[in-house]
Amino acid sequence: MIVTHEEVVSRFFKIGAGGAVAGAIHILTLLLGWYIETNGEAVLTLTGYNFIESFLFSVVGGLLAGFSLLIAYLVKKLNAIKVLLGGLTLTGGLLSLFSPIYIYVFKILGVNLRGYPDIGFFAAIFTAIIELGIGALILLTPLKKEVIYPMEIPPTVAYPDTLSTEPSGPQPRLRGERSRTSVAQIEIAEDVEEGVCTICYYPLTSGNTVRCSACGALFHRDCIDAWVNLNHSCPNCKALMYS
Ligand SMILES: [Zn+2]
Ligand SMILES: [Zn+2]
Repeated sequence: MIVTHEEVVSRFFKIGAGGAVAGAIHILTLLLGWYIETNGEAVLTLTGYNFIESFLFSVVGGLLAGFSLLIAYLVKKLNAIKVLLGGLTLTGGLLSLFSPIYIYVFKILGVNLRGYPDIGFFAAIFTAIIELGIGALILLTPLKKEVIYPMEIPPTVAYPDTLSTEPSGPQPRLRGERSRTSVAQIEIAEDVEEGVCTICYYPLTSGNTVRCSACGALFHRDCIDAWVNLNHSCPNCKALMYS
């Protein structure tokens, strides 16, 4: 299956957003009762918020998943997005999981408080596991080799040859063939509001768009530069072109 760079990125961000939501819910579980302390006759509910350690671990752990979305947003390379998003979400999940367990082992059992976990404890663990799972899922997602990057020029796309009088179909590229075609310049195309690049099919933006002086076909500046370096001709009308 062929997927575009944008499709893979948006897939990562959709999964990552799930991690951010799990992290946010994890932070909210701090407000619930995490432990019931049974001290003689008195029964006391301790929230996650009551312990400075769990407050720190859970807030940092819960925020990491959302934070990873921000960092990954600034990165272009798919592999870097995957590692940042997955790694930070996984780390956040580990901290979130550590938080209730640490308190239970060192604060409840460790100082011999009589008590048992309350609903918030299980909610905290549950949300932490979701965050962990999402981080692992991102890291384990294989990056397909068939990803089309915006700058990549598809090598086998056939372009309509409007000047050719010969039957269409694959033809050997002969030296003499080009002498029958005209010479074109790359001109800056201003005020381009819509349309797609003839080479990469991604939308054109004004300021970055040029046109072939012979046929008027529009391209991204980078796309036509790369194309002309390889083919020395307009991909649309085959006119000779130099960058
Ligand atoms: Zn382009
Ligand atoms: Zn042209």
